[in-house]
Amino acid sequence: MIYLDNGATTQVDPKVKDEVLNYLNSSFGNPSSLHKLGVEGEKLIKKAKENLASYLKVGPNSIVFTSGGTEANNHVIKMVASQFSKRGKHIITTKVEHASVYMPMEYLKKIGYDVEYIDVDHFGAINLEELKNKIRKDTILVSIMHVNNELGTVNDINKIAEIIKTINPKAYFHSDVVASFGKLPIDLDQNIDFVSVSAHKTYAPKGIGALYIREGIKLEPLIHGGGQESERRSGTENTLGIIGFDKSIDILKSYDYKKYLKKIDDLRDYTIKEISSKIKDYKINGLEEINLNRLNSSPYVLNISFKGLKGEVLLHTLENSKIYLSTASACNSRSGKKSARVLENIGVDKEFIDGSLRITFNHNNNKEEIDVLIKALVEAVTMLRMFNR
Ligand code: PMP
Repeated sequence: MIYLDNGATTQVDPKVKDEVLNYLNSSFGNPSSLHKLGVEGEKLIKKAKENLASYLKVGPNSIVFTSGGTEANNHVIKMVASQFSKRGKHIITTKVEHASVYMPMEYLKKIGYDVEYIDVDHFGAINLEELKNKIRKDTILVSIMHVNNELGTVNDINKIAEIIKTINPKAYFHSDVVASFGKLPIDLDQNIDFVSVSAHKTYAPKGIGALYIREGIKLEPLIHGGGQESERRSGTENTLGIIGFDKSIDILKSYDYKKYLKKIDDLRDYTIKEISSKIKDYKINGLEEINLNRLNSSPYVLNISFKGLKGEVLLHTLENSKIYLSTASACNSRSGKKSARVLENIGVDKEFIDGSLRITFNHNNNKEEIDVLIKALVEAVTMLRMFNR
């Protein structure tokens, strides 16, 4: 198997699996129970929270475990909107956010909020001047992702946060850092109020993630109930997920991310060069091919379109050779038209949009795998274009 869909999810690391199984075989208490079994669970959760907090270089009280990135995004967007609506109803975001930001924003629009989308350029990056012009007195929230999960485009969230706070210190800034967590450095300075994290993109099980809430901010819970997570997120904690997340943080802490960035950058370059020398009528989305703008693009993502073809057909053809990748973002690829939102918003021509594939690397991928991919891709593109004639 050649797995090039690491942006959709990653395989659980064996060390994470062992840790989770260990717990499953030895303990089961409800962390809210007062007896020994409960206290054991509570301690493990506390330890995991401290581990994640130290990885992000923030205080442990600023971390709330959630069911993943989707919940964390919904939590911030819906609760900032409802809690601060007296101050204003103006919210700023972009049209290339993940569906778990975009859809709550569309929902807020429907119930009367003034949601403004800032345009992105051909590469998916926002225009900082436009952001400056859009921030108003009644702006309560700005939500802009760190790395775009479909394109790899990197936004300078520290710069963005600084701009927002200079113009309106009361406006909150949230960033979905799901696609950068564990891959690129994240600096949670004082201007960044909230970030959303998902654990299954970095070797932990699915169904666990976290919301960072800057200390001093009191955000109402999205899920009300028994008052777990210091009254910030109710529901019996996902102890197994949290233990897996904790172990995955140990793994991330041991990574030399610069070394991996370089390795993956080389691998993406190699993939692009091979494709460009062997396949005609393709287009790389969100990245300038000739002058690869390293600072503004995460090498973990390569989005590429083949003119006149259907990405889904290409994907299944490659699947026959046990090569796994995505069309657009895997989370919304089943909802048909919506999956093209990001590519449409960066101005990709219609004849290229349908034939898009997303290759998402991890540090275990290698050139030999890319050679197999290229060979299969050349065969698939040649065959499908012959049928298309
Ligand atoms: N944001 C981004 C950028 C993502 O890529 C994803 C996962 N596809 C999410 C949010 C949602 O995270 P989760 O799967 O943990 O709900």
